[in-house]
Amino acid sequence: MRRGLLLCLWLVSATVCSAAPAPPPRPREFGPQSLLPDIPIPPERPGDLGRAPDSAIAPAATPPAATAADGAACAALTAKGQAVAEKAAPVVGERGCGIAAPVLLRAVVLADGRKIALAPAPLMRCELATSVASWLAEDVVPVLETEHRRVARIDDLDAYDCRGRNKQPGAKLSEHGVGDAIDFAGVSFAGGGVLRFADKGNDINVATLLRTSACVRFTTVLGPGSDGFHESHVHLDLEARRHGGRICQWSLR
Ligand SMILES: [Zn+2]
Repeated sequence: MRRGLLLCLWLVSATVCSAAPAPPPRPREFGPQSLLPDIPIPPERPGDLGRAPDSAIAPAATPPAATAADGAACAALTAKGQAVAEKAAPVVGERGCGIAAPVLLRAVVLADGRKIALAPAPLMRCELATSVASWLAEDVVPVLETEHRRVARIDDLDAYDCRGRNKQPGAKLSEHGVGDAIDFAGVSFAGGGVLRFADKGNDINVATLLRTSACVRFTTVLGPGSDGFHESHVHLDLEARRHGGRICQWSLR
């Protein structure tokens, strides 16, 4: 070290100190991983799945890849036997929209095997399709049918749709944009007549059962009285929130 120091002082006007010890070779890869301490990464929690505002979402260039969870959800939809669903091609949209493993939910199958069509057939994720089919087949249709009144059709309004919440410019991406939400108008009966879910003149016992069952099956339920955007229909989705938070806002009167 002393010889090196003396040589450096002698060459003080030079730009390079030849006696300085050579620096250690740099690692071939000096990426972020090498800078991180060895701390185990916790598993992602459901509450961490919240989506960024529209402006922070990069455009998607390729269809999203189906995950093992998507495969399991689609298998569960088929296994449960409550849906007539048609597999659709992966959907990709701008601003993070898309569905990796979408289905068209054509009809729900009741316990007696009777099928009731959804019109129009909504496009959505398999997990949502499973919840929707169960809600319609187990809760909605049984509570609305009587000996002389049969449900002929489920009237939905909007499922997959790449847009901001409540169709407001600049709003956070809607669950509709990832196939995780559906809007319902109501049902049509055989022989005529309809029931609109948002109608405040519905039988209160029937309306209460519809709302209660929806709020059990879905993490977001928005109807009349919620935010001014759902006075004519009911919005249902499966958005995952921190700490398992749920929204159930549907005024019946
Ligand atoms: Zn909606």
